Amino acid sequence: MSKLLVCDPIADSAVKAMRDAGIDVDVRDDITLDALAEIIGDYEGMVVRSRTKVREPLIEKATKMKVIIRGGAGLDSIDVAFAQSKGIDVRNTPAANSNAVAELVIGMMIGLARHIAKADASMKAGSWDKKKLKGTEISGKTLGVIGYGRIGQLVGGKAKALGMTVMGYDPYIEHADIVPLDDLLRAADYVTLHVPMTPETAGFIGADAFAKMKPGARLIQASRGGTVDEAALSKALADGVVSAAALDVYTEEPPQGDLLKSLVALPNVIATPHIGAASAEATARVGGEIVKIAISYLT
Ligand code: NAD
Repeated sequence: MSKLLVCDPIADSAVKAMRDAGIDVDVRDDITLDALAEIIGDYEGMVVRSRTKVREPLIEKATKMKVIIRGGAGLDSIDVAFAQSKGIDVRNTPAANSNAVAELVIGMMIGLARHIAKADASMKAGSWDKKKLKGTEISGKTLGVIGYGRIGQLVGGKAKALGMTVMGYDPYIEHADIVPLDDLLRAADYVTLHVPMTPETAGFIGADAFAKMKPGARLIQASRGGTVDEAALSKALADGVVSAAALDVYTEEPPQGDLLKSLVALPNVIATPHIGAASAEATARVGGEIVKIAISYLT
């Protein structure tokens, strides 16, 4: 019987389905990297989400491993080429989360437009700030989507349905919504980022981009920490170049250091703890895909 280790939380139904299929599944979904290094040599398969980083020293110890399954999209938390060089396949569930992230982005955009988080905080503090909380509508505004892949296009479609004009930027695909980056930055009332983290996209939205953005535009970052230069964002918010931002991902998670903490604490920033994929439906879809992959390798 093949052994599989679940290192991060996944749906209970997925664990049951793998066991029913004859896989010996151990669930250690809060395991530390040190503890993982001790036992990884016993397993033919492992399941991780974003918490567990699978780097070269850990992979060196995974001598029986056939497949590393990443529940979710990004593979930047795994040294994929190194794993492959050791004969280990790395698989992910790229589309299972997309709608959950896209809906969070739409929620963040409306949250920024109508000051929902600020209104809630002021009510809980006992105030009735009706006059200070006049917002704007997103209908009739322009949304710039940088990275027009799975999530980017879903966000674009939902935004169009809400009456927005959508501009996409993505040098690697063809789509009728795609425009040059500078046109998008100049026109967009809202800019949302949906690129993977690569050497090319590190700090992609930084001082240069902020200088080109429409004054008072709003930024949504639910892609990967590091694709927005957080120091430049902090300055753009202070200068009023960006009037507000919504952040789901950070260079360090949870945010450490004064810069990130001060950014999160700003009243014109909505911050969420990397919950883009955290819907019941996405968890079930990710679980279903993990089961299919595990069965194909381990039974
Ligand atoms: P995807 O691969 O379908 O789309 C990414 C797009 O970015 C591609 O079309 C690609 O061509 C484009 N791209 C690459 N480099 C670019 C560049 N330099 N400029 C412009 N576009 C570029 O990926 P996806 O599934 O849509 O995921 C997008 C991002 O969302 C990833 O970073 C992923 O890790 C992240 N994500 C976040 C959460 C969350 O919880 N917040 C959940 C899932 C995914």
